[in-house]
Amino acid sequence: MTTFASSLIDTIRLVIGPGEIGLHEPIIGEAERQAVDSCLRSGYVSSVGQWVVDFERLLAGTTGAKYSVALSSGTSALHMALVASGVRPGDEVLVPAMSFVATASAVRHAGAIPHFVDISESSLGVDPNSLETYLSGSTEKTPQGLKNKTTGNHITAVVPMHCFGHPVEMVRLLDVAEEFALIVIEDAAEGLGSQLGGTHVGTFGRAGVLSFNGNKIVTTGGGGAVITDDEELAKRVRHLSTTAKIPHPWEFDHDEVGFNYRMPNVNAAIGVAQLQQIQEFAASKRALAGAYSDALAGFAGVSLFVEPEGARSNYWLNTLILDDDTSHHRDTILDEAQKEGLQLRPAWKLLPELSPYQHHPQAPLPTAKNLQRRIMNIPSSAFLGPAGLERS
Ligand SMILES: *Cc1c(COP(=O)(O)O)cnc(C)c1O
Repeated sequence: MTTFASSLIDTIRLVIGPGEIGLHEPIIGEAERQAVDSCLRSGYVSSVGQWVVDFERLLAGTTGAKYSVALSSGTSALHMALVASGVRPGDEVLVPAMSFVATASAVRHAGAIPHFVDISESSLGVDPNSLETYLSGSTEKTPQGLKNKTTGNHITAVVPMHCFGHPVEMVRLLDVAEEFALIVIEDAAEGLGSQLGGTHVGTFGRAGVLSFNGNKIVTTGGGGAVITDDEELAKRVRHLSTTAKIPHPWEFDHDEVGFNYRMPNVNAAIGVAQLQQIQEFAASKRALAGAYSDALAGFAGVSLFVEPEGARSNYWLNTLILDDDTSHHRDTILDEAQKEGLQLRPAWKLLPELSPYQHHPQAPLPTAKNLQRRIMNIPSSAFLGPAGLERS
């Protein structure tokens, strides 16, 4: 019997073929193996070394940021970016209700309080318009900064997250941030290679954060980075993440409580080889998105999410949005796909529904609540589709 679920899965299979297929898997080839081998032979495997320097330089070149600091994960990079840009313990930080949990946990690591806001149907990220309306009604501008009328806390920053690689409406968001004197830290963990009006995501705000986890478009095994044009901020991230050690030829002196968050050289070696292929990865993923779009064009009840106006997305993950009246099929689709080795995934559970965040402040979340049950991500590795790259 053909059901909605089985014909949707068949349509996906038309694009990517049979067999076990993961949601997003890296391509690790000869270049990565050679770089790691050379790093191992050098003996510098830990958090100093030429590969880290080269990786940071390449990253600045790729994103157009003046400075980049390579760190151990996207989560640690978010933590450092928040602290270095002046978010203090007890502050509230505006975070999209629909994001990977790290966006909220990093705010808590900084001692601040995530305050959840709604997303936009056109970007899947923070909606600047509903944010403006919400802040106008629920906050008070004081000489000490923006005050939450309900909690009495200061709201000092907003963390737009470029969801599945699609840029948030940053120009409008920067306007709203300016109106309410908010620091902007971009969670661009999923957005390497994505641009808005020719500007790379992560370079609109005070700082941007990238992740190089194994499932991202470029991987270092595990890793992250802070990118910024602010030299002082970059220096502060470097210092804090290097145990706050005062540079000295032999003395151990540390001038505050620091973190051990730097990226090891051996991970940076993988990253250099990966980053040199970002254009190829992005081109293949764009072709895959085009093929999914063609295959699904006549399929009623579901649409493929396309990059917002003026944006060039990296299409890190391809996203299906079920119609309101087909969304009840979601779990059946996920189950059936799982049974035949096809990895589909729903959107994250909304952050304010997770037990650590249930009692945190939140705006009305109509769009996040509606989209959350309609979204499904489908296999998106760069070796799939009409321009699929060789796997290794
Ligand atoms: C992957 C990811 C992170 C965290 O990155 P890690 O390197 O896994 O710590 C943060 N935010 C978002 C939106 C992510 O997708």
